[in-house]
Amino acid sequence: MARIIDIGLQPAIDEYGGVAHLAAAVEDFRSVAEATSARLRGRTVWMVNSTSQGGGVAEMLPTMVALLREMGIDTQWVVIDSENPAFFDVTKRLHNLIHGTGDGGDLDGAARQCYEEANAANAAFMRDQVRDGDVVVIHDPQPMAMAGLLRKDKSIVTLWRCHIGLDSANAATDAAWSFLHPYGADYDHAVFSAPEYIPETFQHRARVIYPGINPLTSKNRFLHFHKIVGVLANSALALAPGPLVTDPYPALAQRLRRDGTFSPANVGEDIGLLSRPIVTQISRWDRLKGFEPLLGAFGEFKRSASGDLGPVDDMQRKRRQLVRLVLAGPDPASIEDDPEGLEVLRELKAAYAGLEPSLQDDIAIVTLPMASLEQNALMVNALQRASSIVVQNSIREGFGLTVAEAMWKRVPVLSNTQACGPRHQIRDHIDGCMASDPTDRKEIARLLDDMLRDVDGRAAWGRSAQRRVHRQFLVFRQLIAWLELWDEVVR
Ligand code: UDP
Repeated sequence: MARIIDIGLQPAIDEYGGVAHLAAAVEDFRSVAEATSARLRGRTVWMVNSTSQGGGVAEMLPTMVALLREMGIDTQWVVIDSENPAFFDVTKRLHNLIHGTGDGGDLDGAARQCYEEANAANAAFMRDQVRDGDVVVIHDPQPMAMAGLLRKDKSIVTLWRCHIGLDSANAATDAAWSFLHPYGADYDHAVFSAPEYIPETFQHRARVIYPGINPLTSKNRFLHFHKIVGVLANSALALAPGPLVTDPYPALAQRLRRDGTFSPANVGEDIGLLSRPIVTQISRWDRLKGFEPLLGAFGEFKRSASGDLGPVDDMQRKRRQLVRLVLAGPDPASIEDDPEGLEVLRELKAAYAGLEPSLQDDIAIVTLPMASLEQNALMVNALQRASSIVVQNSIREGFGLTVAEAMWKRVPVLSNTQACGPRHQIRDHIDGCMASDPTDRKEIARLLDDMLRDVDGRAAWGRSAQRRVHRQFLVFRQLIAWLELWDEVVR
């Protein structure tokens, strides 16, 4: 059954305003919010999605809700649920189809019935909460059928916010959009993360709003050097170099071992996060995130470091020798309802088991506990900051908050032009580097080598990346776009 989510303690607007480089962005947001809040008075803005933790949507909503509430705009976050696992199976298939992969033939009448039943049960909960005049923002395909059900007896504004997409049509996307088409008519307007994603159903009533990150959350806030060391040591991601003031976290990061088991990441040889060049990818265990091809590319890089990649000076030889790959994602216990995630992790384990021992030592497949979202966020933050390069090797990517998160921290990012979201964020060799194909091991290996070698380039890309996030991908810009849209649609 659906439930209203408590967003917990979030930074106040004055805290952002007190940071010198954020003050102007906060002022812009404040003035748009003041100008539009009168028209939204008496209405509630409902944000409806299907998960309260894990993934980009759950990452953004608490910040958005908190900032809007502080500006006097009543905002609530509802997460839908279903006891029928087949519902999430259907919606995961829809997710993959919208990204252009999978077989659309699976979406038969039974799938539609299961999808509509789950939406009806959740709409029953929402019907008791929503009042005439409210604005209901439905995120992604899972709850998409709810708008029509609510509009039967409520006079509300309905908006669909789709966070995923493919920049070209194929049989899979056609199947997804024809399945979702009947529900599209119940929306006043839709929002996508890139112009390429807008499907026929929403032509002429859709716009692009880029997602944004919160610069002050535990995920993105500045961490002093000692704090980075403390977080890595407390979470078992690194051996403590000396005594620490803070205690180890109750739930520790686990590293995959040669025998296929996981144990705390600081048991045995240290990964080397505090001293070695580190290449990191942090994502959900999703096939489209491209973990496995990245593992293959890193193997290619290490094996060919002495030959194919060409002659080098001593420093680069050492970088090639010392660099390690960290592949991190959520603890499998937290994704028990995500059969594909467990399968992807199983596949990665098998790929790792097939590597030569010396390469296994240079690759850390790590699961990050989700028991405390705060500690999980600090682990992601510290891991990104301890990286020489962050990779987002996605085969498809709606937007890729992980890219903006690393860019914000001035860490050079390697992604690829096939992933539409990263392509909108990174200008090649300006804000990071872009491969042309996430499955081309040789190309990724060469780019890793080039990036590691180019110390000045990495610094310049990191600087430019942070500036770009500052201008385009912070939460304030995103909220201004939402306020402008709400202002238009309630008129
Ligand atoms: N993330 C996390 N812990 C993990 C893996 C991912 O907190 O173990 C976060 C990551 O930092 C980012 C979000 O999950 O904020 C993923 O968002 P993104 O847009 O990159 O991809 P999505 O999961 O929405 O496809």
